[in-house]
Amino acid sequence: MGEPSRHLRIVALRRLREDHLEALKGIAEVDYFEELTETNRDAFLSALEKAHGLIGGKLALDEQMLSKAPKLEVVSTISVGYDHLPLAAMNRRGVLLCNTPDVLTETTADTAFALIMATQRRLVELANLVREGRWTQHIGREHFGTDVYGKTLGIVGAGRIGAAIARRGALGFDMRILYTASSPKPDLEKAIGARRRDLTQLLGEADIVCLVVPYQDSTHHLIDAKALGLMQPHAALINVARGNVVDEQALIDALDGGVIRAAGLDVFAQEPLAKDSPLAIMDNVVALPHIGSATHETRDAMAQRAVDNMIGALTGRGPVSAVNAESCRRAAGRTDKREEGTGGPGE
Ligand code: NAP
Repeated sequence: MGEPSRHLRIVALRRLREDHLEALKGIAEVDYFEELTETNRDAFLSALEKAHGLIGGKLALDEQMLSKAPKLEVVSTISVGYDHLPLAAMNRRGVLLCNTPDVLTETTADTAFALIMATQRRLVELANLVREGRWTQHIGREHFGTDVYGKTLGIVGAGRIGAAIARRGALGFDMRILYTASSPKPDLEKAIGARRRDLTQLLGEADIVCLVVPYQDSTHHLIDAKALGLMQPHAALINVARGNVVDEQALIDALDGGVIRAAGLDVFAQEPLAKDSPLAIMDNVVALPHIGSATHETRDAMAQRAVDNMIGALTGRGPVSAVNAESCRRAAGRTDKREEGTGGPGE
């Protein structure tokens, strides 16, 4: 990475604002694809072969495609999560991965809280009574919801977004906050009285369990039948992390069998969710079409961050937020050594 005078090429995949595209064109020739379809797939792959940078939302890049992109130096995803990208292969190749943390934290926390409110107060189910002309008498006990105020909120993954959800719960709704994370969060504990628990304890104690962990091997089906069985029968599960953090069939069975009361889901194992999925039609599920960060303000800020990352990384100024800078430095070190001839044959 470095010399600004070299001829750079960037592939942009996702509808981008004109000023964002212009900024990219200021440093590189840009091959722009609003979306990837069967018709433009070959053109996309041939552009990728020549590209130094790839920027976009749900980026279609697997290990095989990466191997056919020999010049690729930077992938700038318009998301904080990067479970859809082949990070291990990028680390080996020294391809820098940039993401967009922070700018989406509060908006995604809002979405999680909207799901908490909707599942506790049965907002979608009861709004549909009105919409469908079925509100014919005063609402009775069979339609009552459950309080949010004063309940115990369990945050699984108290990182940036998890902490923002916890703050909403503690400061806005006087909730007791429990959390899991890989490391303790003394600041959160001090600020709002949050308490760290192991997952088993948290599932047993929380009235509302909110998933905000990254999707990785250790969180695949973190919430399975056994974990759901540890939750209280009146409890609700909220997932704004990734679909595969939950074993969906186990969740459907638990909702169906009264093991837990309700679920609020923004993410699914397969997206878009099949219209005949039980999760799309069950009364005790609020299902959203993956809109965690989907506001005008936040999506613009994410695109801006991704553009800044790309330009900073390719011009040598440095990105604002990168995931694997250290691995890239190590990969560059390995390449330098090979070029210096210090590596023995076959190394
Ligand atoms: P973050 O700041 O990295 O937070 C992740 C938290 O999870 C950290 O506190 C981490 O612990 C914890 N963690 C990691 N592995 C864990 C495990 N096995 N068990 C328990 N805790 C674990 O990330 P973020 O910005 O809050 O984003 C979190 C995730 O939300 C993203 O990865 C993405 O998948 C998802 N997301 C979804 C949407 C949406 O549209 N629905 C939008 C944005 C993000 P440490 O802090 O100790 O490392």
